[in-house]
Amino acid sequence: MLRRFVHCIILLLACVTLTLLVNQSVSAASKTITIQASRVNVRMGPGLAYDTMTQLKHGATIHIITTKNGWYQVRLASDKIGWVASWLVNNSEVSSAANQKGTMNETIYAREHPDSSSQILGTMTANTPVTIIYQQGAWSQIIFKNTVAWLPSHTITQQNNQQTKTVDPTIKTMTVRSDQAKLRTGPAINHHIIATLKKQTNLTYIATDGDWYKVKTTTGKIGYIANWLVNLNSTTPNNATNLSEATIVLDPGHGGHDSGAISLKKTYEKTFTLATAKAIATRLRSAGARVILTRNKDKYVGLSPRPAIAKRVHADAFISIHFDSSETANTGSGTTTYYYKKKKDLALAKTLNQQLKQLPLNSRGIDFGNFLVLRDNTRPAVLLELGYINSKHDYREIQEKAYQKQVATDVYQGLSHYFKQ
Ligand SMILES: [Zn+2]
Repeated sequence: MLRRFVHCIILLLACVTLTLLVNQSVSAASKTITIQASRVNVRMGPGLAYDTMTQLKHGATIHIITTKNGWYQVRLASDKIGWVASWLVNNSEVSSAANQKGTMNETIYAREHPDSSSQILGTMTANTPVTIIYQQGAWSQIIFKNTVAWLPSHTITQQNNQQTKTVDPTIKTMTVRSDQAKLRTGPAINHHIIATLKKQTNLTYIATDGDWYKVKTTTGKIGYIANWLVNLNSTTPNNATNLSEATIVLDPGHGGHDSGAISLKKTYEKTFTLATAKAIATRLRSAGARVILTRNKDKYVGLSPRPAIAKRVHADAFISIHFDSSETANTGSGTTTYYYKKKKDLALAKTLNQQLKQLPLNSRGIDFGNFLVLRDNTRPAVLLELGYINSKHDYREIQEKAYQKQVATDVYQGLSHYFKQ
């Protein structure tokens, strides 16, 4: 339940929060970096809405000129100027599919550099999963708390190739981008050639295996093709974009002295909005997206600073998380997706609601919602009521980690579709 008319704004607090969130600019005024990811889009401007002018591949070097909204303005080797999402360059990743997954063998410090005397950034705990983005000598670079860190490679057990094979629900078809492209029996160039394909040949996607796609031709042949030999198809090529380039603001409702609605077990809405938002953040970050939370702990944040954060970081989507409450206990049930401005918000609301139908709670559909966090928002924004906290039936799900994870998966898939449109 969102308390629409409580506008307690602690302006000073808001200003401090915004300053902390927005001042992530590059300190080095002129800096040359090397692309570690397999591919990074270079766009005409600092945001997803701008056309892609080219792609940078692994090993390319670029010169950073300036930064805006978390995007780097760069000078390419060709002396052209374009923009890349800074978090992709820093995180050395474009898509989670390209990353190796593993499990920690032991508890060990995560370090800033591949060197046992470099600064300790934190601890990786034994038996926890780890995402490896790069290996150099005896060291592996991993994703650590939304940034990167290094561990000795022997402390990680990597999963075998069978498990790295994934199916990306956002990919449907692709087109071969050069003549003499080889379709092979396996996901590496040492496998036998099944067919030689011409430029513009259409292929149907089956699965992803490392840097290769398993595909089917129009004549029914099934094989593997390297991802650098194809373009993924989309209805509007200029927006054929990847969630990994998007900035998402997640807004866990309430917090601090504003506990939100109360369950029959006397637990608070604010606790579950935060847990659910964190689950969504983890899922989106693993796909490379830049995720900003309006609060990441149990503290009070006024209503006005929340949409203001979305504006300042130029968010591609703002998602507020809440749980409903009915006047009489056990009389309400289900999820609702609210939007405010049709033109700006409705497409996002529809796409997310479509995915939320997979939850164990019924969807009550999408609806207009006159909430401040939507009304004052300049960015595409929705408010999700993810079940009735004072319903015994809904609460059973709401408090479960499995439910929160399912919400995270649904939001991830919804956004993947949304950014493909
Ligand atoms: Zn609420």
